[in-house]
Amino acid sequence: MIEIENVRKSFGQLEVLKGIDLTVKKGEVVTIIGGSGSGKSTLLTCINGLEPIASGKIVIDGVDVHAKSTDLNKLRQKVGIVFQQWNAFPHLTVLENVTLAPRKVLGYSKEKAEEIAVKQLTHVGLGDKLKTYPTRLSGGQQQRMAIARALAMSPSYMLFDEVTSALDPQLVGEVLDTLKMLADEGMTMICVTHEMAFARDVSDRVAFFHQGVMAEIGAPEQLFGNPQHPETQKFLSSTR
Ligand code: ATP
Ligand code: MG
Repeated sequence: MIEIENVRKSFGQLEVLKGIDLTVKKGEVVTIIGGSGSGKSTLLTCINGLEPIASGKIVIDGVDVHAKSTDLNKLRQKVGIVFQQWNAFPHLTVLENVTLAPRKVLGYSKEKAEEIAVKQLTHVGLGDKLKTYPTRLSGGQQQRMAIARALAMSPSYMLFDEVTSALDPQLVGEVLDTLKMLADEGMTMICVTHEMAFARDVSDRVAFFHQGVMAEIGAPEQLFGNPQHPETQKFLSSTR
């Protein structure tokens, strides 16, 4: 379970998270939508401890992410994150890119790391690209490789930050299908997205962020069908 309690965060004078509360249970899929600069990416980077917070608390399976004693490397194995773009090592094959972290971080043998990497790459539909170099992959394939790389660490939670927004429109679907597959398998995920149809389709709950505040959260039918907050209404009408 991910428990976010009254989290505040500033960059200099600018408060970008103004008291966020959110609990994500095992197996739940929560998507976050909202305008540019509303704090969506910042929240994800706080959840896996990439950024400190000013006050409040983020607790993952009982571990306080920002406590001094917390082993952030261990935490990040548990909470995978995939961004808009991941710069793979160009001189390593797809397989080598995906085995890197299991070998270096988890200390797995080459054989064991490869077994896991092949399994995850096959899972995301890249079983025939093991020996290919990343620069030879399409954008959609590169994003699926990034997802396989995160999955190779056997995370309990996955965070996705606009993983399709750098892609050509015809490549978006294959990556969203991969996320949907993970959701259907029961992966606990938080997805920041501007793909509203995807959010409606895949989410247990959708959260709308506005200027550092979670203005509204609810089931997709409720949030898209009958938004309560004026800013949600405004945002949704601008994306239609
Ligand atoms: P987008 O939809 O454009 O990705 P977002 O909701 O993800 O937006 P954030 O990236 O979380 O927004 O940014 C929230 C605010 O914090 C913005 O005003 C941004 O300029 C600011 N910000 C983000 N990262 C930093 C940083 N490292 N240093 C200073 N300001 C930052
Ligand atoms: Mg962002």
